[in-house]
Amino acid sequence: MALQRRHRLSRRGFCLCCLSAPVAAAAGGVLMPGKSFAEILGIVELIKYEATRTPIAIHRLRGNVAVLEGSGGNVAVLTGPDGKLVVDAGIAVSRPQMETALSALGPEPVTHLVNTHWHFDHADGNEWLHELGPEIIAHENTRKHLAATQRVADWYYDFRPLSEAALPTVLFADKKTLKLNGTLIDLSYYGNAHTDSDISVSFSEFDILHTGDTFWNGIYPFIDYSTGGSIDGSIRAADANLAVTTDHTIIIPGHGQPVSNRTQLRDFRDMLVAIRGNVAALKKQGQSLEAITAAKPTAAFDDKWGRFVIDPSLFTRLVYEGV
Ligand SMILES: [Zn+2]
Repeated sequence: MALQRRHRLSRRGFCLCCLSAPVAAAAGGVLMPGKSFAEILGIVELIKYEATRTPIAIHRLRGNVAVLEGSGGNVAVLTGPDGKLVVDAGIAVSRPQMETALSALGPEPVTHLVNTHWHFDHADGNEWLHELGPEIIAHENTRKHLAATQRVADWYYDFRPLSEAALPTVLFADKKTLKLNGTLIDLSYYGNAHTDSDISVSFSEFDILHTGDTFWNGIYPFIDYSTGGSIDGSIRAADANLAVTTDHTIIIPGHGQPVSNRTQLRDFRDMLVAIRGNVAALKKQGQSLEAITAAKPTAAFDDKWGRFVIDPSLFTRLVYEGV
């Protein structure tokens, strides 16, 4: 059982957003038998260790857009004569595998790097990608968080700032449009959602949308209250994603199977709304978190969504915190 879980973690990529403290403790138990969670508080080091060993899978979409899977969040790459635009940077220690994957997509240099939000498993790779000289583009709150130590309370962890050269320098507050390799690329701020720094990246001509971590495909999402995330903001972002997509749109989620569609996005949104309703009703009755967790307000969804590392009780707590 433990080995199965470990295999699952490795196969899907061992990412920061996906790990709860209890699960991290469990994973630590697998990787370091006999160690307590306190002793393995170097969990980020474990994540990095897993990333060093995880191969990068390439999924080719349309219009010279591909997804790279295996270094933290799902990474999108638009390749063409104007250079490569990379959406999210993954975890820095994946550099050798990422370099191989980027080369396989063509010899063009990386000219643009976009961070969908500030989290480690989406921006840590800035530390090496910046050496290639791209413009680094993000929401202004992403730079703010990456430039200072961030405490993520649900992780009991302080994230150190990125080096100055790895920080995004092309910043925006609401919207920004680029034109590269035959397509408009629309960057759009969600408002407070998974964090307070989330943006979508739309390849308009190819009808492809990268949602960052506002969409987790088939798995309960992390919600980072430490930097402005909330369940209601997550639902608003899911609605915004539905509003700008059709059945033809290829949707790249932040986590989970990386080539997705509107049906799966709608399932995700409906799951968020239903569980929010269940938890809010119980909290309104004055029930404690412990009682609400024991009542299993996620039960109808656990078989499908609760099989990854945000388990039903952690997801219940993340929703409870925001209703
Ligand atoms: Zn995230």
